[in-house]
Amino acid sequence: MNPDDLRRRLEFYRDLGITTLYRRGDSVSPPRRSTPDSSPGAAPAPERNPRPPSAPPEPASFAKPAPPDQPALLGDGLLPGLAPPDDSMEKIRADIGDCTRCRLHEGRTNIVFGVGNEKSPLVFVGEGPGADEDAQGIPFVGRAGQLLTAMIEKTAAKEGIPLERKDVYICNVVKCRPPNNRTPQPDEMEICGQFLFRQLMVIRPKAIVALGGTAAKALLGTREGVTRLRGKWRRWNGIPVMVTYHPSYLLRPYNKNAKREAWEDLRTVLHYVYD
Ligand code: SF4
Repeated sequence: MNPDDLRRRLEFYRDLGITTLYRRGDSVSPPRRSTPDSSPGAAPAPERNPRPPSAPPEPASFAKPAPPDQPALLGDGLLPGLAPPDDSMEKIRADIGDCTRCRLHEGRTNIVFGVGNEKSPLVFVGEGPGADEDAQGIPFVGRAGQLLTAMIEKTAAKEGIPLERKDVYICNVVKCRPPNNRTPQPDEMEICGQFLFRQLMVIRPKAIVALGGTAAKALLGTREGVTRLRGKWRRWNGIPVMVTYHPSYLLRPYNKNAKREAWEDLRTVLHYVYD
């Protein structure tokens, strides 16, 4: 890569708030781009969220270089391409191609890019595809997806907002199904997250809903749990972010409070975006 291309690439990642790039075999740390805020209605002020001194150490998978017998994960040729100034969904799709940039490609049936209105003022970001999503290539089509659809459409109807699922955009942090529906690993999130960031920068929605802890971590770089994060506006690259529970968590029978809180979060978001 020539020096000009390298500089442009590094500037692009810096603009996204990514402060750590690493090569195969290097130790890695998570990007820090968190911006907590206080007021749901008002645009929250940008703010860093550095790791407190008492924060627990990184998980082993984050801190250790990949063993040599594992598939290569990060290297000069494996990072997603530099976003062009006139980036578009078509270009992002083309850049993903038949992606093998992380180990998640090994078990996938389909890359699950995203679905919905690519000009929507509202984007929902989940964790990663499950079995139904992997089979169909569409995010949130299983039981959790049906619940998400009902939450969006019923809450909107109740609040007098004409909105259907097809009017918003829905995507995930990682585009390929993790084996056994495990949580995506930090390196997988960081590699595939570059595509998510490009999607969000192309759409530039008025607000983002982070569904669950993985989406919150990817967007905000925070270690806090959803219970503490939800209900308040945060920011990702200047765009207000509301963290709430992942629909799959809400499907568990003992989460009545979480259901009520998720509907409250969604109502807050819908009024902010569509009033
Ligand atoms: S999860 Fe993302 S980075 Fe990994 S192989 Fe799939 S598309 Fe590529």
